[in-house]
Amino acid sequence: MAKWALVSDFDGTASLTDVGDAIVQNYAGPGAWHEVDAAIRRGELTTKGAYEVVYNRIRVSASELERFVLTFTLDPDFPTAVRLFSARGLPAIIVSDGFDFYIDRLLARAGLIWLPRYSNHLEIAGNVPKVSFPHHGALACRRCANCKTYHLKKLRAQGYSIVYLGDGHTDRCAAQRADLVFAKGYLAQFFEKKGIPFYPFQRYADALPHLTALLSEAKASEAVCAQTND
Ligand SMILES: [Mg+2]
Ligand SMILES: [Zn+2]
Repeated sequence: MAKWALVSDFDGTASLTDVGDAIVQNYAGPGAWHEVDAAIRRGELTTKGAYEVVYNRIRVSASELERFVLTFTLDPDFPTAVRLFSARGLPAIIVSDGFDFYIDRLLARAGLIWLPRYSNHLEIAGNVPKVSFPHHGALACRRCANCKTYHLKKLRAQGYSIVYLGDGHTDRCAAQRADLVFAKGYLAQFFEKKGIPFYPFQRYADALPHLTALLSEAKASEAVCAQTND
């Protein structure tokens, strides 16, 4: 019997907007990410290095940044999806190559601060942001600052099948190791090009019926197993 775990990207997936991008656009300038992105593609910068360069240009107080991030919202059905799993004693986690500063504040406002999230770390002293990367190097992955595949593999090692929801470049590697994928945006294009099956989705509301069915199937087969064991 498959026991399922929910693994969700944050920016553009659990949150409707890419909050990390919005921070960079608003405080480092609209061209800032574009410049480092080109350097990443040329192999001159890693994601971690790019974050260090970009956040070096940002000056903002914690209270102002908090005000800014709280203008964004979670997908209204994300909490419902999480509770589908947690109510059955199944894990749900967020994996993000963004930062805890905004993830935690948005989760807390939705009553989800208890939800495990694996991300990079951002703190602010005065008006100087400092980024750090607690999970960097956990896998020998040079592309990611926080490699999502590492966290997915830990759940898999505990015997869970993985349902993955994501939208971006940093979801590619982990999503390919999931058992069931809901993809939008870039990730959907990537899966389509590779010919890997996935469910297209725009909002968590699109995924909820599938997730509900998946978990009740799992429950039904558990009941059958329990009967045959009698
Ligand atoms: Mg994303
Ligand atoms: Zn990686």
